[in-house]
Amino acid sequence: MKAPTPVRSATTPAAPILELRKLNAGYGPVKVLHDLDLVVNAGEIVALLGANGAGKSTLLRTLFGRPRPTSGQILFEGQPIEGMPAHAVAKRGIAHAPEGRRIMPKMTVLENLQIGGHLIDPTHFAADVDKVFALFPRLAERRKQRAGTMSGGEQQMLAIGRALMQRPKLLLLDEPSLGLAPLIIRQIFDAIRDINVREGITVLLVEQNVVQALGIADRGYVLQTGRVVHAGTASDLLAMPEVRGAYLEGAIAS
Ligand code: ATP
Repeated sequence: MKAPTPVRSATTPAAPILELRKLNAGYGPVKVLHDLDLVVNAGEIVALLGANGAGKSTLLRTLFGRPRPTSGQILFEGQPIEGMPAHAVAKRGIAHAPEGRRIMPKMTVLENLQIGGHLIDPTHFAADVDKVFALFPRLAERRKQRAGTMSGGEQQMLAIGRALMQRPKLLLLDEPSLGLAPLIIRQIFDAIRDINVREGITVLLVEQNVVQALGIADRGYVLQTGRVVHAGTASDLLAMPEVRGAYLEGAIAS
């Protein structure tokens, strides 16, 4: 992870870090993403919103080649990455905290973080772990605990921490608020904002929790059956009754 740097200044022009151009992808005969265009600029938090089955997780998975796009382009820092193996994409600087967390339940918190950092020079390990623990003090208290015995919120913190151990430039988060209590959701969203502002890491955040997500995002996209149906700044999207109306239930529940 980088030293704290202000990433959003009026003088810094936004350059795309991720560009999807006319992306099509699916599972065998099932087409999920349709001619999808999306841009994430360096330093932004971009929210990817939409109901169940809209294709949000598929979009994130497509970046790692599973599923492989059937057509279109994925550019990371201006270079095409579609068709690259997952480990090569990770090495370029994209990390994914997937839906359902996928931590190693029988391993301790520290061992899970070690796995996250396996692509990185081991001399950085102690300093990077300290940064994760500063972000999520609960993980520090539970460093020797088996991950599977932790609460859902702690496991989500670990999933994000493990992704950060990769020192990513772009962090993909898939529904980090899923199934968590309001207080924990607030802590997680505060941490996501810190990761972006203090560490200078760009974030693409998949959420159904529209108000929370747009509360920390710069911009957002709304997907419906694999197509972008709305795109704009967070405040513009929040002001749209069709965006708020469609998903507000989830936001209130949190
Ligand atoms: P959710 O929040 O429910 O995960 P989502 O917007 O992330 O929704 P996806 O998980 O990307 O949606 O699913 C999009 C569509 O692709 C759905 O119709 C889903 O059934 C289908 N799908 C997802 N994974 C697979 C798979 N491995 N094989 C076949 N179809 C899949």
